[in-house]
Amino acid sequence: MMDHNVCNSSTDLVLSLLQSNMATVVMEQIGRLFINVQQLRQIPQLLESAFPTLPCTVKLSDVPKVFQERYILTGYRQTEQSWRYYFLTLFQRHNESINVWTHLLTALIVLVKCQEISQTVDFLRDPHAQPLFIVLLTAFITLSFSALAHLLSAKSELSFFTFYFLDYLGVAVYQYGCGVAHYYYVSRRTGTREYANLERPKFTNKLYQLVPCTLAYCLDGSPVVHRLYSCYQTGCSDPAVPFHLYHTILFMASAYFFSFPHPESLFTGKCDFIGQGHQIFHVLMGVAALMQIAALRMDFTARRPCTSVSMATWLTTPWRSSSSPTAAQR
Ligand SMILES: [Zn+2]
Repeated sequence: MMDHNVCNSSTDLVLSLLQSNMATVVMEQIGRLFINVQQLRQIPQLLESAFPTLPCTVKLSDVPKVFQERYILTGYRQTEQSWRYYFLTLFQRHNESINVWTHLLTALIVLVKCQEISQTVDFLRDPHAQPLFIVLLTAFITLSFSALAHLLSAKSELSFFTFYFLDYLGVAVYQYGCGVAHYYYVSRRTGTREYANLERPKFTNKLYQLVPCTLAYCLDGSPVVHRLYSCYQTGCSDPAVPFHLYHTILFMASAYFFSFPHPESLFTGKCDFIGQGHQIFHVLMGVAALMQIAALRMDFTARRPCTSVSMATWLTTPWRSSSSPTAAQR
């Protein structure tokens, strides 16, 4: 009986010790959680102290003419600030924020895609993979140059022209990449530049940009159009064809928003932060580039037997008919 009581009291003792230990552990965890919540609350203040207060954005009439965009009335960054300021405006709300982030994020997606594809494709040793690598590289270049131009061009007129020339250079490089990949994978057979001038009206500038781009795009895109037409005629079930169709439609839709200041012309001052035609152009172009990469990747896999000639041989071989793909090998 006594043993039983001793046993009971020792069990009670163990239980109470366990309970008190558990209570201590629970209290400690609650305490840590409370500290973590408090630390989370301090994040905005920490961010504020890490990033200095940036000068406020200004109105259309406060910036030089070269920076003025039609129908965009506010959200302009001040000129002649330090480079650090323009880099930090990446995290500030202004009328170029969306333009920067759309192409910056798409450039990062292209990098991830490139890394993912490189798991199964040897870009260095497989000559057949070189055009695919070129299109990925040139897509990354054009997207990152565009993001840089939209982020840094507001410093001065010199930086405006310097960075937008770089932007147009990126477009030309990308057109080259598209030309090589389209002629190599999509069919078998090639690129452009554009300039801005402050003295010319905006509309004329647009024409100077659009005409060479459109001509180059017609040339670069002709294998795609031919492929779509052939597929339509024969009723093919090629899985890459819908992606070629989507990227062609998206590129054409993006050209519309690049050419015309819609919808901001209809809602003057309402699209200063978000909703500008140029932002829509960025999004459409980014999605189009991803669709194009998906289509070319499918062609890369499916068309290896009939395009086994190396790109170097293919580029240095004189013109040949698209209907005789193996002519260069003979
Ligand atoms: Zn842009």
